Amino acid sequence: MAEELNPFKIAQRQLDDAAGIMGLDKQAHALLREPMRTVVANIPVKMRDGTTKAFTGFRVMYNNARGPGKGGIRFHPQESLDTVKALSAWMTWKCSLANIQFGGAKGGVICDTKTMNPQELENLSRAYMRAFRNVLGPNIDVPAPDVYTTPQIMAWMMDEYSKMSGQDEFGMITGKPLEIWGSEGRFDSTALGGMYVLREAAKLKKIKMKNAKVVIQGFGNAGTFAFDLATKMFGAKVVAISDSTGGVYSDKGLDYAKLKKAKDETGSVQGYKGAQSVTNEELLELDADVLIPAAIENQITQKNAGKINAKILLELANGPVTPSADEILIQNGVFDLPDFLVNSGGVIVSYFEWVQNRGGYYWGENEVYKKLDTIITKSFNDMIQTQKDYAGKGKKISPRMAAYIIAVGRVAAAMKVRGWY
Ligand code: GLU
Repeated sequence: MAEELNPFKIAQRQLDDAAGIMGLDKQAHALLREPMRTVVANIPVKMRDGTTKAFTGFRVMYNNARGPGKGGIRFHPQESLDTVKALSAWMTWKCSLANIQFGGAKGGVICDTKTMNPQELENLSRAYMRAFRNVLGPNIDVPAPDVYTTPQIMAWMMDEYSKMSGQDEFGMITGKPLEIWGSEGRFDSTALGGMYVLREAAKLKKIKMKNAKVVIQGFGNAGTFAFDLATKMFGAKVVAISDSTGGVYSDKGLDYAKLKKAKDETGSVQGYKGAQSVTNEELLELDADVLIPAAIENQITQKNAGKINAKILLELANGPVTPSADEILIQNGVFDLPDFLVNSGGVIVSYFEWVQNRGGYYWGENEVYKKLDTIITKSFNDMIQTQKDYAGKGKKISPRMAAYIIAVGRVAAAMKVRGWY
């Protein structure tokens, strides 16, 4: 049978599995299987040649029982409604596991930012806000950056929304530049949160991180900082990294500054001299202590899961591992840490940003880092504890299922006490 690769079907399957294990109420389960609100817009944008181009945009608010919708906006040529729906479900579980006052949401536009100039990007960003103004707001649904969207894009979006509402609305979007009250520490928070999780996982599995071999797929925001932090925090050795064009590998370890320079100069990590070139597929199968998928969904499937040679799989991307791959990884004893725990640092610091915007009082970098560490380490420990609790009842469950059980349980409890079922 062909493997299911539709991200929304995958998200539903994960929920169904968790619901079965935890004995979730049927009404709650039905409510949680679909997004609460889906909006699709045809967005007109003025292009540099004076013509108007229509872009398809999405905003899905999956659940708001525990707080406003929350989640990034992706600008991606292969964006689809089902991907956005899946990502909005994962945001719901992410915010719930972190126990922050948000539900889950996600947005996206089908577009290729590599072919657009800054003016076109600004026009699109502002037009997105006009199209979705009624379903966004600091107490409704709060966007943030994601794949191919940046703090600058958040600034344009905040500005457009504020103009429409006739007042500054800093708390309507997070991941903003510091000049307009973004939070200290937000930019590298996704990768940093992942490193805190890695620290705990390595401790638990008694893996020494000094000189540990790390392989990273993806050189976007998460992958870039993961490289830098893994070397700085642990003295780990990043032996391979890739971008969408392919990767480079060196047993001796790669140099971060040299790699950044190569990427800036040639547009690809493959411009790095003195390393072997590898494809994205080969990279995932390299011998490593830690493998970090930090690109997009469906990278580890039933086709290559059996060939993963890492002790720890740190899912820094959203949805990189399919359910069929999950089963194989568990059988092979890979410690696979789920995306909505590993990459929750981004939204946790987004939450700090929203809190600071609401209070108009700002924290220093160290305070942000300390608070992030406390929250994400607690999430990790809660997950491990839930695994142990189920083991005590004779049920062996994966870290992902343990995290699901906590997250779904909290959303279901909030819906119950609000009287939704
Ligand atoms: N886009 C990031 C994520 O997938 C951050 C979301 C946010 O900060 O709202 O978690």
